[in-house]
Amino acid sequence: MRCGDCGSKNIKRQNVQGRSFRWKDFSAATVIKPLELNVCQECNNIITKAGESKLVDEAIEASISEQVRIAIAKIKDTQRCEQKDIASRLGVSPEHLSEIKSGRSMPSFQLFNFLKTLAFDEKAFQVSSPEFKPDYKVAMAAFTTVK
Ligand SMILES: [Zn+2]
Repeated sequence: MRCGDCGSKNIKRQNVQGRSFRWKDFSAATVIKPLELNVCQECNNIITKAGESKLVDEAIEASISEQVRIAIAKIKDTQRCEQKDIASRLGVSPEHLSEIKSGRSMPSFQLFNFLKTLAFDEKAFQVSSPEFKPDYKVAMAAFTTVK
């Protein structure tokens, strides 16, 4: 096996936990679970084999679900609110948010970033209230950052 980026044959099985992947509509999805893949020891490029895409998908989906659960727990804790209040701020139904939280459904990258913003920027939570004027979605655009 050769690295497609640098041509090196120095490739080893390695845990890629903490690395970010371009995945579906995510420009960066961080794997927060342990995941063993082939990594080029020269340029750090990750080389996935044909049969491994399901493994990668599962690890990324599990990582996204976990980050969603952490973000929701943090918002509930710091804002002392219910999950339905978070759903209304995100502009999704409480049912959809439960599905995302359980991992049955994946959030869009935009929704995922919005949720992270609410979790790590207390001001964003206030501004995103449906009662907030002017239009909270316009206001939120200023806060939403891609990390
Ligand atoms: Zn390489």
